[in-house]
Amino acid sequence: EVPVPGKFSTRYDLEKETELRFEVESGEAVEQIELELLTGMAEVFGSELNRNKKYTFGAGAKIAVFTWQGCSVNLYGKPEVAYVSKDTPMLLYLNTHAALEQMRRQAERDNERGPRVMVVGPTDVGKSTVCRLLLSYAVRVGRRPTLVELDVGQSGVSVPGTVSALCIERPADVEEGFSVQAPLVYHFGSTTPGTNIKLYNKLTSCLAEVYSQRCEVNRKASVGGCIINTCGWVKGSGYQALVHCASAFEVDVVLVLDHERLYNELKRDLPHFVRVVLLPKSGGVVERSKECRRDTRDEKIREYFYGFRGVTFYPFSYEVRFSDVRIYKIGAPSIPDSCLPLGMSQDDTQLKLVPVTPGRDLTYHVLSVSSAEDGEEGARKGIVESPVCGFIVVTNVDTQTQVMKVLSPAPRPLPRHTLLIMDIRFMDSK
Ligand code: ADP
Repeated sequence: EVPVPGKFSTRYDLEKETELRFEVESGEAVEQIELELLTGMAEVFGSELNRNKKYTFGAGAKIAVFTWQGCSVNLYGKPEVAYVSKDTPMLLYLNTHAALEQMRRQAERDNERGPRVMVVGPTDVGKSTVCRLLLSYAVRVGRRPTLVELDVGQSGVSVPGTVSALCIERPADVEEGFSVQAPLVYHFGSTTPGTNIKLYNKLTSCLAEVYSQRCEVNRKASVGGCIINTCGWVKGSGYQALVHCASAFEVDVVLVLDHERLYNELKRDLPHFVRVVLLPKSGGVVERSKECRRDTRDEKIREYFYGFRGVTFYPFSYEVRFSDVRIYKIGAPSIPDSCLPLGMSQDDTQLKLVPVTPGRDLTYHVLSVSSAEDGEEGARKGIVESPVCGFIVVTNVDTQTQVMKVLSPAPRPLPRHTLLIMDIRFMDSK
């Protein structure tokens, strides 16, 4: 092996069923780490490594290189942490995949639908990683599963503040994750479901409906089933949202990661035919600080506009007249029941579109561009349930001239004129 010039390299010989875990320092201008498989076979979260190819991981990456048969790998550069662990739940995860695959086979035979799986647990137990693993394994045996992303804080599919669905057609890329082409995305507007639980549940139902419709016309999607990634909020309304999701998607299997109480509660509250399974979390899953989560969210928005790794996008900046757009926030602040107009319930206020008058405080907010047809009041009805077709960020507001400047992935004009405001802000430092 020829080492990368100037880079410190370390070789690891891994026995079968062990994994090398490493973390890349977070922050700016950190040294990237390269990984190379020298002998044997290994995978990163369900995706196989090619031999003698260098995979690069940037700031903040937390990676596990697992081997079923044994292998040796090289790491180039100095990771913040690197160690080998013999204690992994991978065999249990593989068995879970095997059980799901069995269900798919049966579905195929009996002309039924494949398993719909919900992955739940508190934050930082490896939910997203387990989803990725199960999806990659499924696609490797020729299935076409669907990823449903309900984690509005750390979405693996779109920008934060959204829920989405994505058909998986090939295993996740080792460095970049799943290729995101034509996802179905809905605007939620904030990073925690608690800010508007009614809306959150409504969007879950929308996704379930669209997915079910697709299953009716696409046999492969139906047999492939879906893997639903959820938020780490598992108490109170967060728990109710999980129960709602299970019923909206009519899930067959719930995988509970590392939370016995949640496991017992779901066993108690879900219909008896739902298989609720408790799985351990991997000791390798790293807890992420608030700052780390915020950085990841910011990075996700930056990627949306500027691209990622090899792919550079050049976003556009242009002016939009206030009079050309309609901006709404979903959900009016809740008011005491006794003050509600006759015949109106608290639910209605949470799903209500509240017009936003553009002002300076709009600056830096992320806005979703709704795919809803432009039109007056009458058309407002479908906006909450319409997918979004893209996002823009307000970079400047001029109340004098009634114009705002926006950052947009596409050139002027906006494809639609109904915009939904997020709580989430993005400061463009480029
Ligand atoms: P959750 O979805 O529950 O919040 P994630 O799946 O996003 O958790 O995992 C948190 C972090 O831990 C991620 O950065 C992921 O890459 C990392 N991670 C997961 N499993 C392992 C492992 N076995 N070894 C090292 N890092 C891991």
